[in-house]
Amino acid sequence: MNGRYAPSPSGDLHVGNLRTAMLAWMFARSTGRGFRMRVENLDRVRAGAQEQQLADLSALGIDWDPPVVMQSQRRPAYDEAVATLVARGLTYECFCTRREIAEAASAPHGVPGHYPGTCRRLTEEERAARRAERPAALRLASGVDQFTVRDVLHGTYTGPVDDLVLVRNDGVPAYNLAVVVDDAAMEVDQVVRGDDLLASAPRQAYLATLLGTVPPHYAHVPLAVNGLGKRLAKRDGAVTLADLEALGWSAADLVAAIAASLGMVARDAAGMLAAFDPAELPRTPWVFVPPAAPAA
Ligand code: GLU
Repeated sequence: MNGRYAPSPSGDLHVGNLRTAMLAWMFARSTGRGFRMRVENLDRVRAGAQEQQLADLSALGIDWDPPVVMQSQRRPAYDEAVATLVARGLTYECFCTRREIAEAASAPHGVPGHYPGTCRRLTEEERAARRAERPAALRLASGVDQFTVRDVLHGTYTGPVDDLVLVRNDGVPAYNLAVVVDDAAMEVDQVVRGDDLLASAPRQAYLATLLGTVPPHYAHVPLAVNGLGKRLAKRDGAVTLADLEALGWSAADLVAAIAASLGMVARDAAGMLAAFDPAELPRTPWVFVPPAAPAA
């Protein structure tokens, strides 16, 4: 079985993403798993980003088992999964606009971010009328409103499951569907990623069970934050390998900084892998204050 890293090629990876990738790689390799790479390029693609991301990961000493999976080439697999759910009567068309969803969620008894199932209750006539107005998204008719996952760092985590979108109204498979279909196809049984995605795990795990696969083991790891405690972003300064290299850092310097942030004594990828122990991982975000450019 395998672990994986699944970057979205929307720009360069920053030090927090690179640290998560190193963790995913250590979790996988230290447990005898394969390590797979998946480019999540169904949207938000920037030209050249994918090549740069893979080059940066490689420069840190991360290796992966080929082939790199490209979501843009996985359409038939997503279509097949959707067809299975449709055939089992587990889907419905949704015509809601973003605004309608936001309004419904903020109504009394609405749950923020939770789709209240408005279109699930449409009659066939109403549906036909709405189809003439705008293209439909396809939602899962969920049979549960919450689901429990196991996470190495968060223990037993129970979170809400709503009627999540499977296919967006522009016809593109939704992120939650693609992740679940791909992890199953890539024999991924260990998902290590940023803890901003912890809340997505219950819906993905539930969808996995509906598609007949066992949900993976999860480890949602702390993110990198800036000096103000806000999620690290490009605007914080030198946060990518290229930015740091421009200030005189090497890839090895960044690996050493990541090792230090994990409380590890080893300073290179091989040494970190040999010493890796999930029980010793920090549970709080990594505060990364980018080095300042030398005065001109
Ligand atoms: N592509 C997602 C991201 O870059 C990660 C998805 C996942 O790991 O499940 O945030």
